[in-house]
Amino acid sequence: MALEEYRRKRDFTKTPEPAGDTGARARKAPARFFCVQKHLATALHYDFRIEHDGVLLSWAVPKGPSIDPATKRLAMHVEDHPIEYGEFEGVIPEGYGAGVVMLWDVGTWEPETDDIDAALEKGDLKMRLDGYKLKGSWVLVRTRGWGGRGGAKDDGRSWLLIKHKDEWAGELDITEFAPNSVKSAGSFREILAQEAPDVWLSNRGNTGTTAAETLTDVLKKLDKIEPVPKTASATKATPAAPKKAAPRKATRKKTAT
Ligand code: MN
Repeated sequence: MALEEYRRKRDFTKTPEPAGDTGARARKAPARFFCVQKHLATALHYDFRIEHDGVLLSWAVPKGPSIDPATKRLAMHVEDHPIEYGEFEGVIPEGYGAGVVMLWDVGTWEPETDDIDAALEKGDLKMRLDGYKLKGSWVLVRTRGWGGRGGAKDDGRSWLLIKHKDEWAGELDITEFAPNSVKSAGSFREILAQEAPDVWLSNRGNTGTTAAETLTDVLKKLDKIEPVPKTASATKATPAAPKKAAPRKATRKKTAT
């Protein structure tokens, strides 16, 4: 069953993530959905998901997509996710994937092939993306394990996500240029702030569960990913400054929404 592994890894009484409609397979969308979810968990990664045959085929891209054709990004093929997962953004307080999920890009995709299953089997899926951030022609290429999907456990899970040369390619680092959510416009910090952080932050050290520790560990990484700008407090520290404080251009960029 397509979503068995997805469900096995989660306790839906404890996570806000969708369980997935078992009837989802019957749903026919007018256009194929795709999304990229920026996921701060044990490690930061970007989950690249494309709708096919009633589920979201999924790859975890550690460094995120690059719109530079010269920069090939490792994409680990992971378990299928429910279609409804594609709109999810929020905090996973504990358990599998504990951390913060941001809907980083969303849109539709079209295969550049007549037979998607054959392309997946071959390990060479060319496609067009029409998202807010990612557009134009791309390819997912399996790097080894040419025996096809569902083979040996470590076989065939490593793919590369590569941008093809077209008018949507460029040297711009899209993950740096457009770091925030296309759903809420928020950063990880802002998504965290939306989710009543008192509820789960107050659990820290409370029950001593490993889950609470996991989220705490995840949040420790946030300062590196989204540095806190030194603004008001730094200015106040020098009250004797005779002139107006100079704008801090370097930090301003990182707090843009
Ligand atoms: Mn993930």
